[in-house]
Amino acid sequence: MTLLECLKLSNARLSRAGIVSPLAESRLLLQWACSLAGAEFWAALREKARPRCLRRLEEALERRIKGEPLQLITGRTNFYGLELAVSAGVLIPRPETEMLVELALSELQNLPAGGRIFDAGCGGGAIALAIKKVRPDLEVWAGDPDPAALDLCRHNARELGLDVTVVAGAYLAGLENLDAVVSNPPYLPDDYRKSAPPELAWESDSALYAGKDGLAVALPLAREASSSLNSGGLLLLELDPGNVDIFAQQAQRLGFQSVKINEDLARRRRFVIARKG
Ligand code: GLN
Repeated sequence: MTLLECLKLSNARLSRAGIVSPLAESRLLLQWACSLAGAEFWAALREKARPRCLRRLEEALERRIKGEPLQLITGRTNFYGLELAVSAGVLIPRPETEMLVELALSELQNLPAGGRIFDAGCGGGAIALAIKKVRPDLEVWAGDPDPAALDLCRHNARELGLDVTVVAGAYLAGLENLDAVVSNPPYLPDDYRKSAPPELAWESDSALYAGKDGLAVALPLAREASSSLNSGGLLLLELDPGNVDIFAQQAQRLGFQSVKINEDLARRRRFVIARKG
């Protein structure tokens, strides 16, 4: 069977299984199964697939059809141009969080070298690593209460050669004198479990859900940030469109100023940008 035939068959199987982008996912799984990237893959489309490639593809399709996220099958994802390792039980970085990084970099444009940034609830380190990549002059910290997340974050930092300090701990892990707190905390309301896509079951529950209103982590984090940030420091969070307004009001109550809400690419109200007075 040629790679092209494999692609067509995989597409048909994933599409029957109700996968939303069957062709794109088939291509990624096939490329992974045959270890062929980019142009090499396209050039080989009419060649015969090796038995090892077929075996790996079959196994990957079965896992995907059972609902396992594609990124966990290939073990990698791309985030803000960085190749990151992912692992079961740790949140897989999402495209909307790339926009959080974009916003952070733009808000931090005038922050001089040596400024101290904290990625709270860092998971595999996507936010911290992307910021450090673009702004190597900043002192970037990443914290998480979950040991599996810390391991993955350290692994990614090592692989990318990025100097991010990884610390164990909830919220701000007791760190002070911060110039910015940037975070994608767990923010889904508990109720969302009922309608959640099956893929979420492979990730860390505590990295996704945060109580009845989804703010059980974001609010204590904002409270800590209101004392640990330097004056004028930035608080930038990704939240759920359903709780972002309540959070913004609470942030104002905590003394944050110029509290703004920005939309994501799908025009959902998603990000809160606030400054300590
Ligand atoms: N945006 C993610 C999702 O809907 C949730 C991420 C989070 O809770 N931080 O799957």
